[in-house]
Amino acid sequence: MPEGDTLRRLADRIRNRFAGQRCVRCVTRDPRLVGVDFTGAVLLDADALGKHLMIRFDDGRTLHAHLSMTGSWTVGPAATEPQWRRRIELWMEDGRLTGLDVPILGVVATAKEDTLVGHLGPDLCGQDPPDADEIEGCLRRAPSEPLAAALLDQPNVAGFGNLYAVELPFVVGVSPNQVVGTVDRLDGLVGLGIAMIRTNADRGPQNTTGRRLATPDHWIYARRGRPCPLCGTRLQGWAEGESPWRRVSTWCPVCQAVEPRRSVDLTRARRLLALHPARRQPSFPT
Ligand SMILES: [Zn+2]
Repeated sequence: MPEGDTLRRLADRIRNRFAGQRCVRCVTRDPRLVGVDFTGAVLLDADALGKHLMIRFDDGRTLHAHLSMTGSWTVGPAATEPQWRRRIELWMEDGRLTGLDVPILGVVATAKEDTLVGHLGPDLCGQDPPDADEIEGCLRRAPSEPLAAALLDQPNVAGFGNLYAVELPFVVGVSPNQVVGTVDRLDGLVGLGIAMIRTNADRGPQNTTGRRLATPDHWIYARRGRPCPLCGTRLQGWAEGESPWRRVSTWCPVCQAVEPRRSVDLTRARRLLALHPARRQPSFPT
């Protein structure tokens, strides 16, 4: 699932493979890219800003992509998918870069990238860790928003997707439906979220349990109707169309009861994440 950590790993792979290489052939199959040709340009850098991918060239242009739910990239070998799914193909000096089913794709002047990403909140997976207090302040701007909706709102904080909007509330024992203004110790959830997504960006793949080797890599995401891994209660959830924030969601009605006020439970989080390498990140709450 393309969230901030996945995009960071993708950008790093593109940079490591192709930075400094010239594009020798460029094919586009997307109406938004008619007339676009990167042939002759040198790929300078690839970067992820929240869930946006920026591939920069030495002629002052940036290829911008947002993968949404469907897009992906093949980095290195030639893609084998049907041509119509290959929206853009760049033959580099050593290998090929192909954008598959990418729903948002365009070209922008590198100096004007801000017009696409200037609205984003602090970037979770940037070079330096984001400021947790600033993120907490952004999340609290709309106190009547459900917690999951606030976490997904990219102008608040850039990089969390639905996996984290389900898993982080579970780990700290707060419902995704609990409105932000009634959540105490939100700073603890933010610190933990930064630690978890940055760990996954460094190591991959996405893992919210810290368990490896054929055990589940997440707690409750997409497990609506199954027993809570902690208390055994049947998990509840929203289908995409039912949810106030238009995304599927899951929660335990007992561990994550909605109350007039509810505090982030860091004792629970530390117990659940006893095996997760996120514990070694500086932002992990002590
Ligand atoms: Zn439970």
